[in-house]
Amino acid sequence: MENAVRIAAHLGIPLFESASDQFDAVFVRVGSKGAIGVNRNAYWARRRFSVAHEIGHAVLNHPPVNACYGEGAGPKRPRIYDREADRFAAELLMPKLFLSREWFRYSDDALAKRYHVSNQAMEIRLRELGFLRE
Ligand SMILES: [Zn+2]
Repeated sequence: MENAVRIAAHLGIPLFESASDQFDAVFVRVGSKGAIGVNRNAYWARRRFSVAHEIGHAVLNHPPVNACYGEGAGPKRPRIYDREADRFAAELLMPKLFLSREWFRYSDDALAKRYHVSNQAMEIRLRELGFLRE
C-alpha cells in the first residue's frame, strides 16, 4: 500500500492508522482539513484500495465526514460521491491504459497480483472496462 500512502503524503493529506470493525478507511475532518484514517486490521489489498478511494474523496473535493465512520455506518455522504471515489481509486490503481495492454496476456488472478489489488477489485475493473473473458 506504499504508493497509496506516498500519494496521500504528496498531496499533504495526513494519514493515521487505527483499529476498527467499522471501516476500512475513512476521510474525516480534522480541524478545517481532511485526514485519512486507515483500519490497520483490514486485509492489505482492501486497505490499499480504501486509501485510494479516500484520496479520491480528497482530490474530488468531497466533504470529509465529521466523525470516524466508514462507508457503512454513521453520517452518510451522497452515494454519488462514493461511486466517484471508487472510479478514482480504480483508475489510480488499475489504469485503463496499462490494463488495455495487458489484460489478455494474464489471468485475472495474475493481474490482481500484478496490480496489488484484490481479485474482486480486478474482476470489477475488467468488467467495467469491458475486458471480458470468453
Ligand atoms: Zn467513500
